[in-house]
Amino acid sequence: MFSNRVELRKRLDGIREAGLYKNERQLLSLQGPSVRTKQGTALNFCANNYLGLADDPRLVQAAHEGLEQWGYGLSSVRFICGTQELHRRLEEDIARYLRRDDAILFSSCFDANGGIFEALFSAEDTIISDSLNHASLIDGIRLCKAKRMRYSNRDVGELEQCLRDAKEADSRFTVIVTDGVFSMDGYFAPLPQICDLADTYDALVMVDDSHATGFVGPQGRGTAALMEAEDRVDILTGTLGKAIGGASGGYVAAHQEIVDMLRQVARPYLFSNTLAPALVAGSIEALRIAREADEEREHLRKMTERFRNSMKDAGFEVLPGTHPITAVMFSGENGAQEATTIAREMLGLGVYVTAFTYPVVPRGKARIRVQVSAAHSADDVDTCVEAFTVARERI
Ligand SMILES: *Cc1c(COP(=O)(O)O)cnc(C)c1O
Repeated sequence: MFSNRVELRKRLDGIREAGLYKNERQLLSLQGPSVRTKQGTALNFCANNYLGLADDPRLVQAAHEGLEQWGYGLSSVRFICGTQELHRRLEEDIARYLRRDDAILFSSCFDANGGIFEALFSAEDTIISDSLNHASLIDGIRLCKAKRMRYSNRDVGELEQCLRDAKEADSRFTVIVTDGVFSMDGYFAPLPQICDLADTYDALVMVDDSHATGFVGPQGRGTAALMEAEDRVDILTGTLGKAIGGASGGYVAAHQEIVDMLRQVARPYLFSNTLAPALVAGSIEALRIAREADEEREHLRKMTERFRNSMKDAGFEVLPGTHPITAVMFSGENGAQEATTIAREMLGLGVYVTAFTYPVVPRGKARIRVQVSAAHSADDVDTCVEAFTVARERI
């Protein structure tokens, strides 16, 4: 037997020596506004639990009922014998919510993004992608034979140059692909300008709205709805693993032919198991709640504003914006060290946040990414700010 253990150990040591080794902290509790770990109880400011639904009893109940009525699993992919009435109901709900013809479920948004490009585009086409797009978009684009172009994050000037180049190259279809919200900064994509360019150059627009659906824009319909560009976006993808319940599952919502084609040929759809019925039932309830959660969205907005303002008042550098993702920057020479140490100190003070350093973010742009949730109270937010201040004094 030949073993690669020595080689792997070296690489693992390399990751450790570079200070990039990710140790997973085990929770001893549900995912909620506060969590229990071996280090004690801490307010949780690093989950994508924007609407606070992850431990919502209504979702737990709905999932229970789904489990009772529809069983544990389907032991099949969708097209063989893995589609229950329930799955279609969720797809129709998503389509109606996002105002598209139809929607199609995947096991995750990672899979949705992994499957869509190869299914829809080929060598005659061009895919133009924002440089900070999510890893799943990057991988999905790689799996497809289309020409690839990239523009700097949210730079519509560079995007236009790409569109010109695509036109010159006589591309059949050109598609612009962007995250609705960039998760490391909490910045929104400039969708109206992107859509204007798409109109000028006859391009399609695809938006992955994983960090927006459920809590951004009217009814939480997302970034495009917020910017009144909803009917100008051709393809929406998103996750059920963030605001919409936080379990798992992803989807593509688009016009009928796109959804129909994905059902025929998208590989993660054809060759990966059906989403478990309990999750589908939970997601239907999560979507129902999200649609009507104006109060929670308003509370989330207020808590986000409170956090951002208090942090600025306390002298922290915070990237501008309104999204609950708030990047607290540590830009100095020792920024990475500072961010990491402060995050560690804060856990001792009962606040759980995570530091992001190179290579997850560019060198010199270390940060602690705070994610506010509708489940946080004003006191929780104030406690978080206080912990930042105390931790900073300690280092
Ligand atoms: C989280 C995220 C994904 C992955 O979603 P999963 O359903 O967890 O696979 C994809 N795209 C973006 C932009 C995300 O933020």
